[in-house]
Amino acid sequence: MTGFATRAIHAGQDPDPRTGSVIVPIHATSTFAQDGVGGLREGYEYARTANPTRTALETCLAALEGARHGRAFASGMAAGDALLRATCRPGDHVVIPDDAYGGTFRLIDRVFRGWGVEYTAVRQSDLDAMRAVMRPSTRLVWCESPTNPLLTIVDIAALAGIAREAGARLVVDNTFATPYLQTPLRLGADVVLHSTTKYLGGHSDVVGGALITDDAELDEQVAFLQNGAGAVPGPFDAWLTLRGIKTLAVRMERHCDNAERIVAALQAHPAVTGVRYPGLGTHPGHEVAAKQMRRFGGMVSLTVRGGAAAALAVCARTRVFTLAESLGGVESLIEHPARMTHASTAGTQLEVPPTLVRLSVGIEDPQDLIDDLLAALD
Ligand SMILES: *Cc1c(COP(=O)(O)O)cnc(C)c1O
Repeated sequence: MTGFATRAIHAGQDPDPRTGSVIVPIHATSTFAQDGVGGLREGYEYARTANPTRTALETCLAALEGARHGRAFASGMAAGDALLRATCRPGDHVVIPDDAYGGTFRLIDRVFRGWGVEYTAVRQSDLDAMRAVMRPSTRLVWCESPTNPLLTIVDIAALAGIAREAGARLVVDNTFATPYLQTPLRLGADVVLHSTTKYLGGHSDVVGGALITDDAELDEQVAFLQNGAGAVPGPFDAWLTLRGIKTLAVRMERHCDNAERIVAALQAHPAVTGVRYPGLGTHPGHEVAAKQMRRFGGMVSLTVRGGAAAALAVCARTRVFTLAESLGGVESLIEHPARMTHASTAGTQLEVPPTLVRLSVGIEDPQDLIDDLLAALD
């Protein structure tokens, strides 16, 4: 297998054999001409089932995770929805992190619970607690590492072992780490989920999701749901995502460089009561992160002195960091999880601290980012 950056630029993206087009064309078509009934030229029939631009993206996504199969969806949530429907029936049980992405929690708690799928939210970094919640009916262990927004690290290889012993599958939401920093299938996970909206797309201009696996049977069920339920990305979205992926390796290095410099600057600030970043030696998951990740990513969370009001004020005062949900783009974003991305967890076990501020560190000049945060904190 070639190196990561080479795969990001070339996998699934050979020049077009007919025209030589170096870039995969945007196949803006809903249907494909047949040479006689059933005479498909390259297997394409109707664009919900498959479209060549989407195929290129799916091939590239699989290559990035070192996997055999990739399937693209209209959003990360659509990918999660398909995975739950492919793996769970009424009465089945799912284990989720106690600080799961808010949308994942909402999907499982507000949609799938109504259809009889049970779940337990647990601190997955605590392996004894994990073992204790597994049931004979557990079909899926859903994990994130680092988690959103608390940046907890879980030992993916250990979770894979626990899931396997219980006859369940392990899915890793690899949105925060990206395959550049972490490849969960190599650590024993069964499926990787992405919100390609974030680092993979990388430019905050497209929403998308993906499921990637080596499990041919699961992939077949996922493909059935792509076609049967239809939550697929259009060719323009697939093309934008592919375009973003080409620079993933260089972007991630810069996200990590900038995050490390910001962490150092924040730690020294008297208004900051805590900095969460897996690259810090004091982070409880640092050793596991160092073992399973190449570097530590571009997401940083901090808590500030002065309660929720102070956290909201910091979010309102930055000028280079834009106040917005989402993450993973070239531009830096700041947000207040308790009131924004994680508002749906209020009053539940997954509620996040009101003093928490989350940064998606972009790839601007690091000194501008540091100056902006220091001014907002003063
Ligand atoms: C954004 C996000 C999702 C959901 O993806 P969408 O593309 O917004 O549907 C899932 N997991 C994580 C960790 C995310 O950040």
